[in-house]
Amino acid sequence: EPTIGVLALQGDVREHLAALSGSGAQPVQVRRPEELAAVDGLVIPGGESTTISKLAVAFGLMEPLRARIRAGMPAFGSCAGMIMLADKILDPRSGQETIGGIDMIVRRNAFGRQNESFEASLPVDGVDGGPVEGVFIRAPWVESTGAATRTLAVYDGHPVAVRQGSLLATSFHPELTGDHRVHGLFAAMVRSAR
Ligand code: GLN
Repeated sequence: EPTIGVLALQGDVREHLAALSGSGAQPVQVRRPEELAAVDGLVIPGGESTTISKLAVAFGLMEPLRARIRAGMPAFGSCAGMIMLADKILDPRSGQETIGGIDMIVRRNAFGRQNESFEASLPVDGVDGGPVEGVFIRAPWVESTGAATRTLAVYDGHPVAVRQGSLLATSFHPELTGDHRVHGLFAAMVRSAR
């Protein structure tokens, strides 16, 4: 079984750890550079991307995260984690940085007030067995993507699941449903990268 870390600075860490255990991976929490060095892949949870960004800098993790992603470590980000994996944020808060890796521009809190939280049934390319129930909570959408990316799911005309090589990002939260197929897809990506 591959060891998959969950970046445990802020956000729904426990839910991702539980979803990974159900997906043929050995989950561990990552808070320090030594812990990051020991994982085969990394999940960046949902939460608040500005907070995760500032804590990653404060914990000395931002540069090690960028270096491992440049070196090919698979990573999966949901919601705030999607924002962290984007090369660019359209509307960053002051001091907000991303790890980057996926050639895309994201818009934070994109779905607007009427639609702060909602669920939608989404076919996801690469996930077999029918649509995934997407839970969206103050979710970003993807404003534009570069040529190396593949859009795996769309909602309301906007990409909400994107893959580039061994990097995967979703606007929604697969860790909040009992359905672990998206984590299963990521675990398979980690196994094939090893
Ligand atoms: N709106 C949050 C942000 O900008 C993301 C929300 C979430 O992860 N559920 O980071």
